Amino acid sequence: MAVQLPDANTRWRCGHCGNLTRFDVVRSRTAAEYWHFTIGGEPEIEEVEVSSEDVERVACRWCGASDRIELVPRHGLEDSPAEVGGP
Ligand SMILES: [Zn+2]
Repeated sequence: MAVQLPDANTRWRCGHCGNLTRFDVVRSRTAAEYWHFTIGGEPEIEEVEVSSEDVERVACRWCGASDRIELVPRHGLEDSPAEVGGP
C-alpha cells in the first residue's frame, strides 16, 4: 500500500494503536549531489537536488503495523489523548 508523505497540514497516524509520533520509514530517492572534499579528503555534500522520491514502507514504531498508516490533519487533534507532551 502506497503511503503519502505528510505535508504542512497533515501527519501520519497508526490506525491500529493511534500512534502519531513514531514511525519507521523506508524510502528510496534519486538525487543529484554536489560533493565538496577538503584537502584532507573529508567530503561534505553541499547541494542536493532530489528528482524523485518514493516512500516504500511506513511502519508504526509502537505496534509494527504498516497496513493502516493514514494521513490525518495536523490541526484539530489537540484534544486527542495520544501521547500529549511525550519525551
Ligand atoms: Zn500502531
